[in-house]
Amino acid sequence: MSVHIIQNKSFILDEEKISVYLKIKPDTFMHLRLKELITEAQNIGQPKGIWTVTYIDEKGSDYIRTGPITFKSHLLRTNLSEANRFFAYVASCGQELDQWSSTYTDYLDVFLIDGILQEACHTAEQQIFEQIQKKYNLSKSNTMNPGSLPQWPVSEQKNLFQLFEGKEKEIGVELLSSYLMTPVKTVSGIRYESQIDFSSCELCPKLDCPNRSKKYTR
Ligand code: SF4
Repeated sequence: MSVHIIQNKSFILDEEKISVYLKIKPDTFMHLRLKELITEAQNIGQPKGIWTVTYIDEKGSDYIRTGPITFKSHLLRTNLSEANRFFAYVASCGQELDQWSSTYTDYLDVFLIDGILQEACHTAEQQIFEQIQKKYNLSKSNTMNPGSLPQWPVSEQKNLFQLFEGKEKEIGVELLSSYLMTPVKTVSGIRYESQIDFSSCELCPKLDCPNRSKKYTR
């Protein structure tokens, strides 16, 4: 199983997207400060990612197995019903930006930097998806993240990380015993091919979540 690593040494942050996410009006003091911090972040930061293709050996009613690793989730099993493989990944803002962020204490800067790190992590995630798409030419793909719903609990992170064979350390990511990850702005998940649209947001009752991408439908 080959593990692919992305080290994004030069990257561009989408200033408009961060402004919209943080609800910052153009030509305000906050907007000017955001621009300054984005410039700093782009000089310092190196968002990173890791991904690997995994083939499914067995499917049960509420589990899938790949080699010695068994993922237990009825929702995961249902979503992967058409798939014989999936792509496990981790995307992170990177340790450089994480350390840079810890040097700021001013409330406004901390608020703006949180949005910057979020977008840096998203940049790495998008790059992973583009690499997977380029290499495997998926007809249609969806994403699931362990812990975003109780139906695929965060404890499944342990199984997911086994697929990287310890190489997540090369991008400075660590899975903690709580199943959370460091740096804090790190996301893990799987990408899989399916003709059926799926978004965890449809099943998630956190109605005021700023990252919601789809309406709550249950
Ligand atoms: S609504 Fe927010 S917390 Fe819930 S799954 Fe979507 S992004 Fe995650």
